Amino acid sequence: MSANCVFCKIISGAIPATKIYEDDDVIAFNDIRPSAKVHFLLVPKLHIDSLLGCENEHQALLGKMLLLAPQLAKQQGLAGFKTLINTGVEGGQEVFHIHLHVMGGGNQSRNS
Ligand code: 5GP
Ligand code: ZN
Repeated sequence: MSANCVFCKIISGAIPATKIYEDDDVIAFNDIRPSAKVHFLLVPKLHIDSLLGCENEHQALLGKMLLLAPQLAKQQGLAGFKTLINTGVEGGQEVFHIHLHVMGGGNQSRNS
């Protein structure tokens, strides 16, 4: 938990989000500014700033996120989708709690 992190606040329930999935390790919720018909974010409950902050100990968590993406995308009605992880300010990252964008079903040309 990081005090001023918007995704930690969503995880704790302090601010609302439209959740589509949750378990002990991860949460998925719809992006507040969707760039496709379906656009959700897969977020670990553990606060990690970005891919740059990942270590070997996070291998299973990162793998779990990637394996969940197609399952949740299918549940959202997608047969195909785009995934994106923005990393660092220069990588277009705005929220510094690592997250995987999953987008499909319409315009998904945005790079964030
Ligand atoms: P980034 O550029 O860091 O990869 O993307 C952050 C994403 O988080 C953006 O697509 C933005 O719309 C989304 N986002 C930021 N704040 C909130 C929020 O409070 N609720 C939800 N559901 N999404 C948010
Ligand atoms: Zn956080």
